[in-house]
Amino acid sequence: MPTLDTFVEQTAGAVRWLGKGLLDIVYPPRCLGCGARPESSHLPLCPQCLQSLERAPEMGVAARLDRLPVGAGVFDVARALWVFDKGGTLQAVQHALKYQNRPRYGVPLGRLMGEAFADQHPPPDGVVPVPLHRTRRLERGYNQCTTLAEGAAEVLGCPCRLDLLARPHPTRSQTGLSREERWQNVRDAFRAAPDCAGGRWLLVDDVLTTGSTAVAAARTLTDAGAEAPSLMTLGLARQ
Ligand SMILES: [Zn+2]
Repeated sequence: MPTLDTFVEQTAGAVRWLGKGLLDIVYPPRCLGCGARPESSHLPLCPQCLQSLERAPEMGVAARLDRLPVGAGVFDVARALWVFDKGGTLQAVQHALKYQNRPRYGVPLGRLMGEAFADQHPPPDGVVPVPLHRTRRLERGYNQCTTLAEGAAEVLGCPCRLDLLARPHPTRSQTGLSREERWQNVRDAFRAAPDCAGGRWLLVDDVLTTGSTAVAAARTLTDAGAEAPSLMTLGLARQ
């Protein structure tokens, strides 16, 4: 029942927003990297910690996808913004965004993703977040990729399309699975809406590890008639 889901998410979002607003007055947010108060209250990192993040190599994502049996040539452009290290500053940011109820970090981070994409590529027809299964989304209260996609869409001047890709089948966590197991786990997880046909979409995900999830999502779009999509992720896991 999408209407009830929307109501639950919006109510949870309003309560969260009120609660966080009060907390921010009493305890202003601190930089997740160094603990200093960030100069901008919108990003979770101070300017110095933001500068210190290692940029992902231009061809890093493409090289990772080439190692998947089905990953080569799936994307028009595939880029990650930063390298993601276990225990690093970007992991602290991603954990806050994903697990610690901080969806508001997503939009400003998504804007940086949009700017990095716009620097080198024409805008897509729309930005599509990698969807979560409904149960996971209701547990978490939001999809962290949607907040990133909203920020990217704002910068790129195109719509954020939540209607094009769904995840009707629950999948187990990818953590601890091999490359082949990860692909088998997600290959049939997504469904595309007919409206995606003919479009040039930018898929947005938070962290790319083997790329199985992003490739499964992309192939679902192209199987439904979309052009080869592009991909932008916040992080590329170091391997
Ligand atoms: Zn800092």
